[in-house]
Amino acid sequence: SNFGIQESLNRLGISSQNPGTSTGQVWINSQSNYLASYSPVDGKKIAEIQVTDNDGYEAVVSKSQQAFEIWRQVPAPRRGEIVREIGNALREVKADLGKLVSYEMGKSYQEGLGEVQEMIDICDFAVGLSRQLYGLTMHSERPGHRMYEQWHPLGIVGIISAFNFPVAVWSWNAAIAWVCGDVCIWKPSEKAPLSALACQKIVAPIFEKHGMPEGISSLIVGDYQVGEWMTQDSRVPLISATGSTRMGKIVGKTVAERLGRSLLELGGNNAIVISEHADLDMAIRGALFGAVGTAGQRCTSTRRLIIQENVYEEVKSRLASAYSKLVIGNPLDETNHVGPLIDRDAVNAYLSAIEKVKASGGKAVVAGGVLEGEGFESGCYVLPAIYEAENHFEIVQHETFAPILYLIKYKILPEAIALHNGVPQGLSSAIMTLNMREAEAFLSHVGSDCGIANVNIGTSGAEIGGAFGGEKETGGGRESGSDAWKAYMRRQTNTINYSTALPLAQGIKFDI
Ligand code: NAD
Repeated sequence: SNFGIQESLNRLGISSQNPGTSTGQVWINSQSNYLASYSPVDGKKIAEIQVTDNDGYEAVVSKSQQAFEIWRQVPAPRRGEIVREIGNALREVKADLGKLVSYEMGKSYQEGLGEVQEMIDICDFAVGLSRQLYGLTMHSERPGHRMYEQWHPLGIVGIISAFNFPVAVWSWNAAIAWVCGDVCIWKPSEKAPLSALACQKIVAPIFEKHGMPEGISSLIVGDYQVGEWMTQDSRVPLISATGSTRMGKIVGKTVAERLGRSLLELGGNNAIVISEHADLDMAIRGALFGAVGTAGQRCTSTRRLIIQENVYEEVKSRLASAYSKLVIGNPLDETNHVGPLIDRDAVNAYLSAIEKVKASGGKAVVAGGVLEGEGFESGCYVLPAIYEAENHFEIVQHETFAPILYLIKYKILPEAIALHNGVPQGLSSAIMTLNMREAEAFLSHVGSDCGIANVNIGTSGAEIGGAFGGEKETGGGRESGSDAWKAYMRRQTNTINYSTALPLAQGIKFDI
């Protein structure tokens, strides 16, 4: 059968109907309905999973609160040791989990494996971090005083994830949050709940094996309404939400109303500037993978190419020729380059974006279209498209989560940077150039306004070691590497007086 997917599902413990609410090893039955997960690969129903009801949610939060009392007292390096074992468990199931991600979400099997590798990598990172949750020491202005800061765990971290990275984004949050001493409640995308179910089954036995309580890793399932229980809940001090800007504006506002913290990872509208000084072979390859990889469904997908006029025609024709060689089909088959979009709604959004760019005056370089016939029965397979456009077109200003690439022409670099930054989003960016002045200008404070800025690599994909996230309507959050862990902890400044006097700060006198 379909590249052994059934065998992988069996090994991951997924049956045709599954409970979806879990505090670890314990699964809670709900009164509510089942949610079906359909594969965009072949349109078939993979399995059903029960939606969390309010009682289930309350049970999860209460267990999480109790678990936090215990987990925060486990020394951080010991927490790291448990995360190390989670990384090892993921190494063992890499092929099966990668295949499920590919089948449920539609990305290529290679990318599914890459996503699991990212989970393994962030576990390794978190293990090291568990011994490096450093604070600073400061010199006090008062004699006989010492000042320092320390980082304490926050409590429950609510993780809301998007369909396109159904497992990696959770692990970026959870692995770091756990070593920080937090407990996590995960609400995965309703479009990829089975991948989340599989993860919960992988990690729960490891916490149990170490004698840890239920509630350190919990799962709740459902659509935005289940997500709203968390965003409105002041027992959840941090909401880390990944998804559309539309979602982020609602979540950000809801969490802010209760003065909670949110970490938002939202949409991008990423561009590559291709200079006349670019290595065009590299530029074409970077643009191609960035635009069509994961069928354009990465937050870092390349949506715009801003091309210097002297190389514009060459880039355009070479891209058109590369696109003509793309093989589209079942993503589990490693000979295919591009798989399906997530569902038919996404196909409609793709078609409507093409209509809009045409109506605005955009010209087709590669027209696109929906594939039909054998192998394309799910109705989710589309042809990657290229349109010549202008940056100010309304549709170009928006993120369409599909493989549509817009070509925009420029004359001089400051103009390219202005076009580049002239969108509401600010996630990932790149310049292709061998000219050092151009590269440095692009990275400088008057260059790219994005959270990620690259030279001579594309916009798509990132390593876990860096802080990941973006500015403006991308939401401002940072996850994964560098010091992103600080978002999962609370900072405490401590002043200790070891003298026999009690001097006040700023030299204030208050003698009676
Ligand atoms: P989406 O916004 O439709 O859904 C994302 C998640 O938010 C889902 O779990 C959904 O149930 C939940 N949700 C939606 N409305 C909510 C609400 N009002 N309250 C609480 N939860 C709510 O996004 P999607 O279609 O799954 O994913 C695609 C989007 O995600 C794209 O815009 C993409 O750029 C973005 N994305 C961003 C990053 C990043 O790191 N910046 C990473 C991956 C995806």
